[in-house]
Amino acid sequence: MTAADLKPISFNSARFLVSAAKLQDCPPDSGSEVAFAGRSNAGKSSAINTITNNGKLARTSKTPGRTRLINFFSLNREQRRLVDLPGYGYAKVSRDMKDDWQKHLSHYLLERKSLQGLVLVMDIRHPLTDFDRMMVDWCEHNQLPLMILATKADKLKFGQAKQAMMGIARELENQQWLKHLIMFSSTSKTGLDECRQALTDWLDTETTDPESELENDND
Ligand code: GDP
Repeated sequence: MTAADLKPISFNSARFLVSAAKLQDCPPDSGSEVAFAGRSNAGKSSAINTITNNGKLARTSKTPGRTRLINFFSLNREQRRLVDLPGYGYAKVSRDMKDDWQKHLSHYLLERKSLQGLVLVMDIRHPLTDFDRMMVDWCEHNQLPLMILATKADKLKFGQAKQAMMGIARELENQQWLKHLIMFSSTSKTGLDECRQALTDWLDTETTDPESELENDND
């Protein structure tokens, strides 16, 4: 184990790494990564910017030509990455484009061994859209740990935000793979520490590799 392996993960260190149109274009599938998904306009880019304390990062993902790509960001620890998945539901995309999007995305989600968990960003005022439910069901079915960021909480009074969270929790009470349900706001930074801690825990998990001597090192 090198000193770089022991370095605490700093989200401020995130840097754009590469964009991938499909699984074959992704960086090598080793180490750990966490992917962010969300319906367009849910607040995914803002959440990534807030988590990494870098207003430019997710803007990279929004440059023309990159919105439909999988965008990878490296972190200060080797082989640790954040992944910005293409937003779903942009304007009126054709059915073919939706099918294409779904194919590439499900390919990534199914095949990527270094993927430790999915962060689903949803607008707390419009939670559990069809897209969100599809992603929740997908995680459940494929046993992928799920974190939900119910963002834009600053847009509601605290009592209303609490109620909304309780509603989401009630609807998802049977989801075994929902590991974190966090009230979040990129504007007020609500939930930021909790979110970063959960991400760190996931990223600290090494990809299961029977050859690796580092396995269970954290026990
Ligand atoms: P994306 O399409 O999911 O990446 O969404 P964006 O991050 O671009 O956000 C969509 C809109 O919601 C933008 O106008 C943001 O400024 C706004 N927004 C995002 N997060 C928050 C938040 O936590 N609070 C408030 N008040 N506005 C937010």
